Amino acid sequence: HAKERGRNKYEFYKHEMNKRVVERQSIEAELRLALERQEFVLYYQPIIHLLTGKIVGVEALIRWQHPERGLLPPEQFVSVAEDCGLILPMGRWVLHEACRQAQAWNQAGLSPVTIAINTSAHELRAKDFIENICETLAETGLPPHLLELEMTETVLMRDTEDTNSVLRALVEMGVKLAIDDFGTGFSSLSYLKQYPTDALKIDQSFVSQMINNKDSAAIVSAVISLGINLRKRTIAEGVETAEQHALLLALHCDEGQGYYFSHPVAAGEFATLLASGITSMSQAPADMNY
Ligand code: C2E
Ligand code: MG
Ligand code: MG
Ligand code: MG
Repeated sequence: HAKERGRNKYEFYKHEMNKRVVERQSIEAELRLALERQEFVLYYQPIIHLLTGKIVGVEALIRWQHPERGLLPPEQFVSVAEDCGLILPMGRWVLHEACRQAQAWNQAGLSPVTIAINTSAHELRAKDFIENICETLAETGLPPHLLELEMTETVLMRDTEDTNSVLRALVEMGVKLAIDDFGTGFSSLSYLKQYPTDALKIDQSFVSQMINNKDSAAIVSAVISLGINLRKRTIAEGVETAEQHALLLALHCDEGQGYYFSHPVAAGEFATLLASGITSMSQAPADMNY
């Protein structure tokens, strides 16, 4: 009966695999429709200059306003979009929409903020990536120095030759580059020498533990020193408490982002935050619940 059990197990796995393939295919089909129907929205999370408390930047974060399932976080669809190639049109939409919105805030007389956009490896490798950025900046009128592209170390790991020339082209245009989730990838130190990056975003896994865990605090402190010595801005991700805020200030971290300052919010709400110059530190989450 072992054989039979094996067979049943196999049938079970086959069934599960099929189910997953079908699920993925249906997400894929839905994603295609969602692009056409413009069901994606950008939420905006302020980035605070720690010394002055001013909003100096904002990160655009994609959500899917699903007709039945509500507001979906990127974890539920970005990797599917990457696998099926839809990340390219999706990324183009994000880039255009975020730049348009940032320039609209600018022109409304709000204090200029850097708009940070997440860039996936597929986008960086696309032939028309640079052209796309040039066109978007020209079409929206956003000054290049107000655009910051965020990429993870894994993105920077591949095709070093090509990556390097793409990044140099961006820097020549005046666009800024930040390494996202810094400290969670591989051999980050060699990339720091190789690529012309402007900022290090310290991953929230270190920030969230820095008060209770000496090792996390040591890593945060070391990354900030590295940033200072390499003349790169440091941005702490996932700042949630007053204690973390105070320690980051004491360690001379430049900027911070996290629920302590504000959740990611809809465009209209961000404009209000920017106009008032205040980030509420006790506001109920306006973003979806995880
Ligand atoms: P990320 O770029 O590292 O973005 C930061 C994530 O941390 C966001 O999650 C944000 O909502 C969350 N966050 C901010 N402050 C806090 C905090 O204080 N505590 C905690 N626990 N979390 C905080 P979100 O919006 O779900 O995005 C997740 C990831 O999805 C992003 O990580 C980014 O890698 C990816 N992503 C988001 N938007 C885009 C996009 O337009 N294109 C691409 N390719 N990826 C995107
Ligand atoms: Mg990011
Ligand atoms: Mg990050
Ligand atoms: Mg992250």
